[in-house]
Amino acid sequence: MTDCLFCKILAGEIPSDTVYSDSTVTAFRDINPVAPTHILVVPNKHIRAVSELEEEDEQLVGHLFTVARTLAEEEGIEESGYRLIINNGPDAGQVVFHLHLHLIGGHKMQYPMG
Ligand code: 5GP
Ligand code: ZN
Repeated sequence: MTDCLFCKILAGEIPSDTVYSDSTVTAFRDINPVAPTHILVVPNKHIRAVSELEEEDEQLVGHLFTVARTLAEEEGIEESGYRLIINNGPDAGQVVFHLHLHLIGGHKMQYPMG
């Protein structure tokens, strides 16, 4: 997708602080972190949003979560805790329409959400 910000990051056209990459998933630090750890885990394949997921993407989505878990361990927040967020659509505040899992942690967060 030529006009997608995250596809440009994945192609190396826009710099990012990449912390993990494999053949299907890449993770980089959010440019505007809301917590000491704020990493975006994204599929290398362009998928607009959860609402666009297909059955064939199930393994890929599972991989986003296991990569996030591993990164949480590397960040040292596996015991203090962390939050995983996927925004879908306008009411959820999705601004980048390339599926991404937010890994957020490193301080006490507010609850409830919404
Ligand atoms: P959304 O609201 O779509 O779930 O989250 C998009 C996220 O992308 C936001 O947290 C925002 O700070 C982050 N973001 C926007 N532009 C860039 C960028 O150019 N580089 C990086 N690393 N993150 C970005
Ligand atoms: Zn994209």
